[in-house]
Amino acid sequence: MSEYELRPHHGLCIGFFGGKGYSDEFNRNMSYIVAMLKRNDPVVKLVKGTDVICKACPNNEDGACVTQGKVTAYDEKVLELCGLNDGDSLRWSRFSKLVDSRILSENKLEEVCGDCSWNYICSKL
Ligand code: SF4
Repeated sequence: MSEYELRPHHGLCIGFFGGKGYSDEFNRNMSYIVAMLKRNDPVVKLVKGTDVICKACPNNEDGACVTQGKVTAYDEKVLELCGLNDGDSLRWSRFSKLVDSRILSENKLEEVCGDCSWNYICSKL
């Protein structure tokens, strides 16, 4: 089975995605990735760099996010709270459960990414 590179903080974005994103191309790709993860439960490799979601994002400039410092800090916080490391590989379902139990159920979303421009969507749900 294929292994998909995923930024750790995207484990949060995926759970809150409701079709709104940076562009139509981004939304199409994100919808595909979300459905694929739920359907196939593949192994994901956690990377603090551009991933399968960033690849269709207009903020990805030459392979790096334009807000690299900010999103890397989100990635590092997710890894720390989930007890994981950059480069770890695990099933999507296991990672998703860790994100739920260690971040969302503990009300730590604000601590991870409270200054994200999309926070108004996630904090409403
Ligand atoms: S390029 Fe940056 S803004 Fe775009 S999906 Fe990746 S981390 Fe998010």
